[in-house]
Amino acid sequence: MSHDAALQAALEPHIRDIPDFPKPGIVFKDITPLLASPEAFNRCLDGLAAVTTEAIDVVVGIESRGFIFGAALAARKRLPFVPARKPGKLPADTVKMEYALEYGTDALEIHRDAIAPGKKVLVVDDLLATGGTAQACGDLVREIGGEVAGYAFVIDLAFLGGAAKLAPAPVHALIRYE
Ligand code: AMP
Repeated sequence: MSHDAALQAALEPHIRDIPDFPKPGIVFKDITPLLASPEAFNRCLDGLAAVTTEAIDVVVGIESRGFIFGAALAARKRLPFVPARKPGKLPADTVKMEYALEYGTDALEIHRDAIAPGKKVLVVDDLLATGGTAQACGDLVREIGGEVAGYAFVIDLAFLGGAAKLAPAPVHALIRYE
């Protein structure tokens, strides 16, 4: 868990808090202002590239904001990008993982042939909350034979303790709310 306080200070002003979205009591961390600032978005990508020092063969991004950061990071690192998608979106043979939400369940799918056996995978999403989504994605990666080398997020809502669910894999985040 590396952390750069100066980078957090530079990026934080580009995250907008939207209270009570998508439901009462949730403070939604809106990353669209960060995307709208080429300078901030590039610093964010530089930061993600710098903290993910593990040996990585493939970047997996979680639908849909994980695609934005994951795909751009993969391109920077000259690595393949693989999408983990909501059910019913991927056209070829898929593997599915269900996970618990506060109310009910959700699921992610990945193409069965997306990752060659033993390849080291970095899982990317915009934000780590309870960790259920990223954990399910890591499980999918292992299910199809990949090895989870680490997880990277722009934001970690650390007070929710999501990183503990992802242990022992390293968890990186540029902005951490304690
Ligand atoms: P979790 O499975 O609880 O770690 O939730 C992570 C997923 O839900 C990520 O894909 C996030 O984009 C989204 N998410 C959860 N909480 C928030 C929040 N407060 N603001 C923005 N996105 C969130």
